[in-house]
Amino acid sequence: MADQHRDLDDLIDALRVRPDEAVDLRERPTDADFGMDKEAALARLADTRTAIDLLQQRLYAEGTRSVLLVVQAMDAAGKDGTIRNVLTGLNPAGIHVTSFKAPGGPEVQHDYLWRVHQAVPRRGEIGVFNRSHYEDVLVVRVKRFVPETVWRRRYEHIRHFEQLLTDEGTTVVKVFLHVSKDEQARRFQERLDDPEKRWKFRAGDLDDRALWDDFQAAYTEAIERTTTKDCPWYVVPADSNSRRNMAVGEILRRTLERLDPRIPDPEEGLDGVKVV
Ligand code: AMP
Ligand code: MG
Repeated sequence: MADQHRDLDDLIDALRVRPDEAVDLRERPTDADFGMDKEAALARLADTRTAIDLLQQRLYAEGTRSVLLVVQAMDAAGKDGTIRNVLTGLNPAGIHVTSFKAPGGPEVQHDYLWRVHQAVPRRGEIGVFNRSHYEDVLVVRVKRFVPETVWRRRYEHIRHFEQLLTDEGTTVVKVFLHVSKDEQARRFQERLDDPEKRWKFRAGDLDDRALWDDFQAAYTEAIERTTTKDCPWYVVPADSNSRRNMAVGEILRRTLERLDPRIPDPEEGLDGVKVV
């Protein structure tokens, strides 16, 4: 068992991008099984959720730090499913999930980080971003919403922004759910064919799919330029839902374990106090 855990540690660590590492997404697996079948991955994630819940309680009790998990992916890679499966059953009071759509209203009247900064977790919370400020160097780049000079300088803003969060007590960890183009086609078809799932499909999804290579290039550069020692990216194989969810759970749990949040010392003089 201990050996198995060490193996899994190594497999999860292998997903982490190193600072200054050249990233080639074609070389990175979309279909790793981590030596587990589906049932083993589900069981492992159930244990991991329990561990995350306890760690989050300690994080809240400590009250000084927070964790931000950023989830990015191509369409149908499973952002929603990952967030649901990793966080289900945890104390809702301790978790804050924010989904970022195309900006509108007051959001477009401000810089691109304005809405993002407002959504970062409070002390004691785990915050999760379903899409994020990274859209401003991804879709915005691929669809040419702003000129290159504008999106290119954002890498530096993002590094500094995430460093600010880190310095002020928010640990930032970023996952790219890496799905294959074939698996995306299969999932799109399933969405189209299943009346319960069709609402998730937009015609625009096919336009984005046609720009697959451009998106992969944009992800590659974003990951390379914003991976730092403190704010790593993990490229998580996403063709298998159960293993993908398991792996993201592991990443979140390890992040919390490294923080090792401590329950504060109780007030003095409570020994022997009887409640009457
Ligand atoms: P979904 O996550 O499938 O509900 O779709 C949300 C949509 O919002 C995606 O098409 C994103 O590309 C888009 N989106 C999110 N953030 C931005 C942004 N900053 N600029 C433009 N589009 C964005
Ligand atoms: Mg979508």
